[in-house]
Amino acid sequence: MKRVAIIGAGMSGLACAWYLLERGGFVPTIFDGVGIGGGASGAAAGLVHPYPGEQGRQSWMGHAALQETGRLVDEAEKHVSGPIAHRNGILRQKPLIQEYPDVERLSSSAYLIHSGMTISMPLYLEGLFRACSGALFKKRHITALEELSDYDMIIIAAGHGIFQFADREHLKVRAVKGHVLHCKGLGITRSVVGSGYLALGHVPGTYFVGSTYEKTFSSELASFDVAKESLVPKMSGLGADGFAVCGCSAGVRVSAEGHYLPKIERLGGNVWALTAMGSRGLLYHAYFARKLVYECI
Ligand SMILES: Cc1cc2nc3c(=O)[nH]c(=O)nc-3n(C[C@H](O)[C@H](O)[C@H](O)COP(=O)(O)OP(=O)(O)OC[C@H]3O[C@@H](n4cnc5c(N)ncnc54)[C@H](O)[C@@H]3O)c2cc1C
Repeated sequence: MKRVAIIGAGMSGLACAWYLLERGGFVPTIFDGVGIGGGASGAAAGLVHPYPGEQGRQSWMGHAALQETGRLVDEAEKHVSGPIAHRNGILRQKPLIQEYPDVERLSSSAYLIHSGMTISMPLYLEGLFRACSGALFKKRHITALEELSDYDMIIIAAGHGIFQFADREHLKVRAVKGHVLHCKGLGITRSVVGSGYLALGHVPGTYFVGSTYEKTFSSELASFDVAKESLVPKMSGLGADGFAVCGCSAGVRVSAEGHYLPKIERLGGNVWALTAMGSRGLLYHAYFARKLVYECI
């Protein structure tokens, strides 16, 4: 059995552990200094569909990737009580660049993406962690890879923490902070994307409004003032009135420069990095973790 240290218990690290266990022959140990979902995964609004972006162009391998995410959501769901995802599609308030079989035109400004889901992040991460029975978890911040010299392999799935282990110029990635507002009091039953988004929360009547894209920031912490100032105006653009703002969260996404795809990088020897999930982490974390485990290591 090969001992694999995974740095990061966000969606990427947990997906790596799950596929290592599925493949067999590996004992994963997941390290996270904060805890399960301590990074951007814990702040995400939970939206996933194959057509993100201004134009609504189909993402590369979008349906295959979504299918892989759906598989992990189904696995995670076996380990928590109640459904993890709203599976009633996502309403897009803008035309898409072309017609797609899973997108229904409701009007000139409303398109229903039937394959879209809204995932409850706390439940998904908890369920996926529980689905990784056979993996070990250690709540510990790793400061240097030498601390993991006992392991046969290291996978760095540390989100923004990647910069501690690899140079951002070399990786050609950047960090973008994002806030989401937590709201309640709207009567909508389906998540909406347009100029910004409104994502259904797990608790009925709760919503996430997002998101900001802050390219410069001095702290990773959430600021209620920044979130309110940037995001409340987006609510009326989404046709939402009569809501109450009750909190906010923030996280830092790592994105590739010049494209939206995640990266699998060998940093030398048996050290691998899975990074740059960007704003499409839910679409790609499972697909790329599977690729790393089955095709690279
Ligand atoms: C506000 C916001 C909203 C978003 N909404 C969506 C959405 O609706 N849909 C979507 O698809 N994507 C969304 N995203 C993007 C998504 O959250 C990310 O793509 C995804 O979470 C990246 O997951 P990850 O596991 O790679 O990194 P992370 O979730 O950041 O996980 C990294 C983990 O590594 C740990 N770590 C870091 N360094 C160390 C170290 N040295 N030692 C030990 N542990 C360490 C951290 O504590 C953290 O738990 C959103 C992002 C933000 C910020």
